[in-house]
Amino acid sequence: MKTGDTVVYLDGSFVPQGEAAVSPLDRGFMFADGVYEVIRSYRGSLFERAAHFERLKRSLREIRIDQDAAGGLEEILPELLERNGLAGSEALIYVQITRGAAPRTHQFPAAKTAPTVYALAIPFDPPLEQRDRGIPVILVPDTRWSRCDIKSISLLPNILARQMADDVGAGEAVFIRDGVVTEGSTSTLCAVFSGTVVTHPESNVVLPGITKRVVFDLCSRTGIPVAERSFREEELPRAAEMMLLSTSREIMPIVSVDGMKVGDGTPGALTRKLQAAFSEVIRSV
Ligand code: PMP
Repeated sequence: MKTGDTVVYLDGSFVPQGEAAVSPLDRGFMFADGVYEVIRSYRGSLFERAAHFERLKRSLREIRIDQDAAGGLEEILPELLERNGLAGSEALIYVQITRGAAPRTHQFPAAKTAPTVYALAIPFDPPLEQRDRGIPVILVPDTRWSRCDIKSISLLPNILARQMADDVGAGEAVFIRDGVVTEGSTSTLCAVFSGTVVTHPESNVVLPGITKRVVFDLCSRTGIPVAERSFREEELPRAAEMMLLSTSREIMPIVSVDGMKVGDGTPGALTRKLQAAFSEVIRSV
């Protein structure tokens, strides 16, 4: 299928991407007043589907958009894969729900305003080489708001941080808030201290990562100790290994932080072990 043939889902219809149109009054366009999800599909099967829908509904609830806006998507997404010839391969699904189109006022629009529901499925080429070699990261101040637990489409601080990383050839920017390491601009951050995989606890300053949940389950099953506790930037030089976790990058080894090697500057043994275990999980979905 050619890229030009992509079919998207928008407000109840499947339409060619080039014909999909959203009003300039849409509150997603005006205010970034909406939420989103990114879901992987492996051979047509939506990975951690229930967890993604649960998080989407939670995001909707937190910003007071009716959760019913996500109704039907669980059936629509497989059809979207099918219509794009992606039912048998690897794909990335993007879902966005905004508060709909209405005259611009900061307060919510009239109750009858229908949310805008959009979904896109694209072929996914996993970053295999990076996953094998690992990536450098940089540390940046966490300038985001204090509800990072909501998967909001308002991503300007994340965009600026990720571009700063890109500008210096790094693969991710890791946020530091009041000296504490929170997460990556698009990922959960884990560090290995004395054999324990540590990440920031779920709170208002991080997104509750679904990949993290899968990886921590794997750790529990294979006897690798885990801890959800916050840790400070000063502790990073003591980390034997570091990795970032996300739906699109899965388990990505981090080999340097601001130019300083992590461990010996190559992906660590524990990271490798988890990558292998994760691949097994994927093979069986
Ligand atoms: N934190 C942020 C800020 C993210 O954008 C992402 C990617 N969605 C994650 C963490 C990881 O979440 P998940 O494993 O559910 O993709």
